[in-house]
Amino acid sequence: MTSVTVTPPRSEPSAFRAVLPQLVPFLCVFAVAMILPFVSNDYWALIGTRAAIYWVLVSGLNLVVGFAGHLAIGYVALLTLGAYTTSVLVAGNVMPAVPVFAALPIAAVVGAVFGVVVGLPALRLRTFYFAMSTLGFATIVTQIALAWQSVTGGGIGIAGPEFPAPFNTAWGYYYLCIGLAAVSTWISANIAHSRFGRALVALRDAEVAAEATGISKPRMLIAIFLLAGALAAIAGGLFASLQTYITPDAFTFDLSVLFFIAILIGGRGSILGPLLGTIILTILPELAAPLAAWSTFLYAVLLLVIVLVIPGGIAALLDFRNRRPLPSNRAILPRPAALGDIVRKRAGGKTLSLRGIALSFGNVRAIDGLDLDVAPGRIHGLIGPNGSGKTTTLNVISGYYAAKGGTMTLGDDALPPGMPALRAARGIARTFQTPRVIGEASVLQNVMIGGTIEGEASFVEALLSLPRHHRDERMLAAKARGLLGVVGLETLADVRADRLQHSELRFIEIARALMLDPDFLLLDEPAAGLSADEIDRLAALIKAICARGTGVLLVEHHADLIFAICDQITVLNLGRILAAGTAAEIRSHKEVVSAYLGA
Ligand code: ADP
Ligand code: MG
Repeated sequence: MTSVTVTPPRSEPSAFRAVLPQLVPFLCVFAVAMILPFVSNDYWALIGTRAAIYWVLVSGLNLVVGFAGHLAIGYVALLTLGAYTTSVLVAGNVMPAVPVFAALPIAAVVGAVFGVVVGLPALRLRTFYFAMSTLGFATIVTQIALAWQSVTGGGIGIAGPEFPAPFNTAWGYYYLCIGLAAVSTWISANIAHSRFGRALVALRDAEVAAEATGISKPRMLIAIFLLAGALAAIAGGLFASLQTYITPDAFTFDLSVLFFIAILIGGRGSILGPLLGTIILTILPELAAPLAAWSTFLYAVLLLVIVLVIPGGIAALLDFRNRRPLPSNRAILPRPAALGDIVRKRAGGKTLSLRGIALSFGNVRAIDGLDLDVAPGRIHGLIGPNGSGKTTTLNVISGYYAAKGGTMTLGDDALPPGMPALRAARGIARTFQTPRVIGEASVLQNVMIGGTIEGEASFVEALLSLPRHHRDERMLAAKARGLLGVVGLETLADVRADRLQHSELRFIEIARALMLDPDFLLLDEPAAGLSADEIDRLAALIKAICARGTGVLLVEHHADLIFAICDQITVLNLGRILAAGTAAEIRSHKEVVSAYLGA
């Protein structure tokens, strides 16, 4: 889909100034890392190197656990895999020996492939079961390392790779690992602040809404597992060299726990938090030698304290902005007139048609022979008592349910059942009866998620922060800010969405849906929970959206709103059409008046 070109609101230098406050903590950590060699001894070189290596792994795992929300607790498996791949390649056990700087990228590729293998069960398995599957994989890798003696040395082990000068001294190697850790931070931050990072969080906290905006869960997860697997395997190669000699025993479950807890105490959806978490967990057992044996115990205690005292982790502690109180008497004042500058006018032409749609849940006939037409630039009202099949109708149109009978067409094309993630690309956007908003993301990010499929930069371009990625970001942010102005929420753009009122969430959802410049907009009870004034403003907004050529299907209980703005109305009762016609016809329909309007 093409989108309007929006001029960036800020010039480059001031955009840099905007990210500077976020950058400062990372620069401080980096500065400390650079100074460390001048103020300490080789013992700290070892600890610092270890923290850097762990972070290379955790920076990728953080995207899986903290952003995508998948409990991959067995990630030590990919560290093991990377360590053995690098060591075996450098030792020349299976083929002619490879220099270490060539072995690391090969290990990264192997890690990426197995990252997907370990990760794919996440598409089908829920939380706990997925966690167990990653643990199972960790056991398998260790067992193979033990059994495949000719290559891995079995229980006796194998020498880790040696790096050439200047990386063959303690501090030389330290700088190498710090450098790679910095690159990992940069990569993972680029992804986190791209449409891909936002899509991961959307899939985690509002999967249904994410799919409705066209986000493909399998593609997103595969991309992220490739990246996390590659980073973990590179960390493995570095780890093997640091250990100088590896046996399967070196890769204990404790390590996996460390990685995982570093992210939990860091706070999900943050990069700085897990970075600090990794550093803390690496240093903690070293501070007092007797504590080393207690490291697992310490991690567990720390985790309990964090979960109980600051559930949001270190990141929540450092989130000063969201502690400022919001004004309590906020009014939502949409400015529909501004729509023209932001949402492309639809050429129209295509009508969304349902014919004889039927769907049952067990014995319940949720919808039974439904005919419905949503014309471009028109508002079609869908009303009926609770349980009459209104939401189910929207779910069939947006592909969550496959109808058992009937046909759905968009113009001359059939609209295939199922596949909700493909609806956005066909120009169909929607809101939900219960708003599905990502509470931990800002209002602006929530709206930007609506435009995920409008971005042009690939995952790799985002990862490397290439110009097309920046253009996407500027375009999405400018459009989202514009739409927040349209729905009257621009002053709350940077606030966490879970701090907003219910009525405000409804308007966020409308702004998010408009990011797609939709041909059709399905609204499920948008006026529920709104004040009378807000409903009037909502009516004006819906009419303005419609005037841009978008066809609106409006499910509503507020009869006044329906009769005020709908061109056509369909009344459902127990899944069947009770009446259909213009507002005037429905208002005077005997059965409707007695059964539903009750006047
Ligand atoms: P409305 O939105 O008009 O209030 P719905 O479309 O949500 O009604 O529901 C229509 C009927 O289908 C109700 O009887 C409801 O209980 C049933 N129903 C809806 N979704 C499901 C589901 N996922 N599983 C079983 N029954 C469902
Ligand atoms: Mg409903």
